[in-house]
Amino acid sequence: MEVREGAVTIEVSETRHGASEGSGDGVFYNPVQELNRDITVGVLNAVSDECDSYLDAMCASGIRAVRAANAGYSVAGCDVDPAAVELARENLERNDLPGEIHHRNVNAYMHETHHDVVDLDPFGTPIPFVDAAFRSARKYVCVTATDTAPLCGAHFESGVRSYGAVPRNTEFHPEMGLRVLLSALVRTAARYDLAARPVLSHVSSHYVRTYLRLERGAQAADRLLEQLGYIDHCQKCLWREHERTLVADPTTACPECDQSTWTAGPVWLGPAHDTEFVETVAGSIPDDAGTTDKARDLLASIAAELETPTHYDQHRLYGRWGEPNVAMDAFLDSLRDSGYDASRTHYGGTTFKTTAGVGEIYDVFH
Ligand SMILES: [Zn+2]
Repeated sequence: MEVREGAVTIEVSETRHGASEGSGDGVFYNPVQELNRDITVGVLNAVSDECDSYLDAMCASGIRAVRAANAGYSVAGCDVDPAAVELARENLERNDLPGEIHHRNVNAYMHETHHDVVDLDPFGTPIPFVDAAFRSARKYVCVTATDTAPLCGAHFESGVRSYGAVPRNTEFHPEMGLRVLLSALVRTAARYDLAARPVLSHVSSHYVRTYLRLERGAQAADRLLEQLGYIDHCQKCLWREHERTLVADPTTACPECDQSTWTAGPVWLGPAHDTEFVETVAGSIPDDAGTTDKARDLLASIAAELETPTHYDQHRLYGRWGEPNVAMDAFLDSLRDSGYDASRTHYGGTTFKTTAGVGEIYDVFH
């Protein structure tokens, strides 16, 4: 089956439901992730002054390697599946693009080579690959995680095991997943005296995607670790509070409703994106990409997001209050008129961020 993405055309096997990366008789290609790849091309264009080489760490059909090569990068790809390696090589040739595809264990390959940008796009958790990725990357590490149930606390034990943090299944679950992932990535990089600062992150269609800019040095790594901490949350009234610390001091009873609370962490409490970078990326997505408008809308929404570590779901709040909800724009205007900052978020049409606490939100509308 031939697939066109942006300016390139690649051959992929027909994938059946349940096919996994590099196994069975179909090399994995996920059409749902075209948006993810279009944004990646925008990022690669945005950082092309400082970066030249790109590694598609688990390349499968080679779609990411092909698109990075088309963006002018010197590309390498890696896969343990010989069928994937052959297909990725053919796909580079089909587009008359140079690049090296290696039939190797990707962790071994990353331990031996350096690349300006290392892209991890595995099926499931990226954790088995992140140590080697931080060892291999000079400037940026890009990470996709599709195991959103462990990340957001829906599969609790699996999340604790994979990410070394306690996730909680809150009403802001996409952001919980992102911040658990960022926590694990920042802590992993810090072990190598490396600060891995997120400059763009999004949660879309059941995957988490983040781009981390690397800075070398123990002090830089220490400064990022100071942005880790804990979120206390009340499932009943949706109250929440966060504290930047690695020494947990959980609240046990909700100050609003006295219900017992639960605690997530350590999670990343710092900014999940750099607004200026996000705007540059939006302007760097090719006009002829398959999802250009959708990608730019998403990035505009992220750039406008208030910088708080959690968001609210307006429907959940009104459900809790037993009242019909107010139109979102009017709702946000009322919060702003009462002196609070407020914004929509990219996590969903009914989600918002605000500097108001849950009790203060209630008071604005009652
Ligand atoms: Zn409460």
